[in-house]
Amino acid sequence: MNKKINMPTPLVEMDGDEMTRILWQMIKDELLFPYIDLKTEYYDLGLVKRNETNDQITMDSAKATMKYGVAVKCATITPNQARMSEYNLKEMWKSPNGTIRAALDGTVFRAPIIVKGIEPCVKNWKKPITLARHAYGDVYKNTEIKVPGAGKAELVFTAEDGSETRETIHVFDGPGIIQGIHNTKKSITSFAKSCFNYALDTKQDLWFSTKDTISKKYDHTFKDIFQEIYDAEYKTKFEEAGITYFYTLIDDAVARVMKNSGGFIWACKNYDGDVMSDMVSSAFGSLAMMTSVLVSPSGVYEYEAAHGTVQRHYYKHLAGEETSTNSVATIFAWTGALRKRGEMDGNAELQDFANKLEQATIQTIESGKMTKDLALITSLENVTVLNSADFIKAIRETLDTLL
Ligand code: NAP
Ligand code: MG
Repeated sequence: MNKKINMPTPLVEMDGDEMTRILWQMIKDELLFPYIDLKTEYYDLGLVKRNETNDQITMDSAKATMKYGVAVKCATITPNQARMSEYNLKEMWKSPNGTIRAALDGTVFRAPIIVKGIEPCVKNWKKPITLARHAYGDVYKNTEIKVPGAGKAELVFTAEDGSETRETIHVFDGPGIIQGIHNTKKSITSFAKSCFNYALDTKQDLWFSTKDTISKKYDHTFKDIFQEIYDAEYKTKFEEAGITYFYTLIDDAVARVMKNSGGFIWACKNYDGDVMSDMVSSAFGSLAMMTSVLVSPSGVYEYEAAHGTVQRHYYKHLAGEETSTNSVATIFAWTGALRKRGEMDGNAELQDFANKLEQATIQTIESGKMTKDLALITSLENVTVLNSADFIKAIRETLDTLL
């Protein structure tokens, strides 16, 4: 065994809950500790610890992420009523992902992990399509009224000096509905910068789409902010990197995405991103084969899996039954974070290790060894279904042949 890879700067490690917490430890024991002198600043975001610290641990982990620039996060429980009694919670703590996203002012980029034998439903998709969803405002922070009967609906803005701007929405002659939505220049600007930075970082074209022809002020402002920032700060960098920024109408984008072979980033407004990310991820196969990274406009990165804590498998695990839980997205969260750490520190060995671990994971699946979720959808023949631990051990065997 060669000597372990040196890692002078730590990354932030956010541990989590249930089945993914079990996988987390296995991944560290089998795939990281034997090869890397792993340095992390550890935060336990498991629900027990969040409850114990009144969620201070989540805030602290977000602060540490800003300090070190890179974090890797395990899936965590977002408490609901059932969890209140299950964990005897003091409060219904907020989603850690929401807290971290707000602290970093970040955008989430989700991309599928492509392997031979797990083909996307859309047959011409050959490369990943990365979806970037704006995570603030619009219909997710709306104000609604059920109009009971005839009357006039108006949009009123009162400036700090008391002056008013008014627009008539509609003069109702009977019952109906109205909705008020907003966004802020600050949030759209952060979103745009995160997208441009991520495109440069991953050397992929960036698409952005809205309905600016119909929404001449609201959606058009999104389009304008993107274009202004692109022209002022990114045009030259994009040209140097050989990538393009492409704006088109949302309906045109949807049509083009279907015909395209992939390999680009698609930035969407909040609602479009909600809907389209589910469409893209289900067409690529499985949430367990989908990575997710939160990127702040200042270039801070937090990597995680796109799926949850896989509660059903955890209860089986607790009952002493065998599980076959897919660890690929969680492994890729680690490799993403380690590679980024390596890039930031000029640590070529660490980057190389991250690439090899990804390669080993893909090769293991392509050789027919996989977890049950993939065995159900693969086009490969002669498949061996492995349990959670044996799948990770199989990846280690492949990794040893690559190192
Ligand atoms: P989930 O954990 O994503 O799992 C839903 C189902 O998808 C599982 O029961 C399983 O199907 C399948 N699945 C997901 N990941 C898998 C994997 N890695 N390997 C194999 N199968 C996988 O969603 P959930 O059960 O609705 O949520 C559980 C908890 O996760 C909740 O408390 C929720 O708050 C939390 N959550 C956290 C995050 C996050 O931290 N980013 C995201 C979403 C949800 P089968 O049961 O059919 O095998
Ligand atoms: Mg959705």
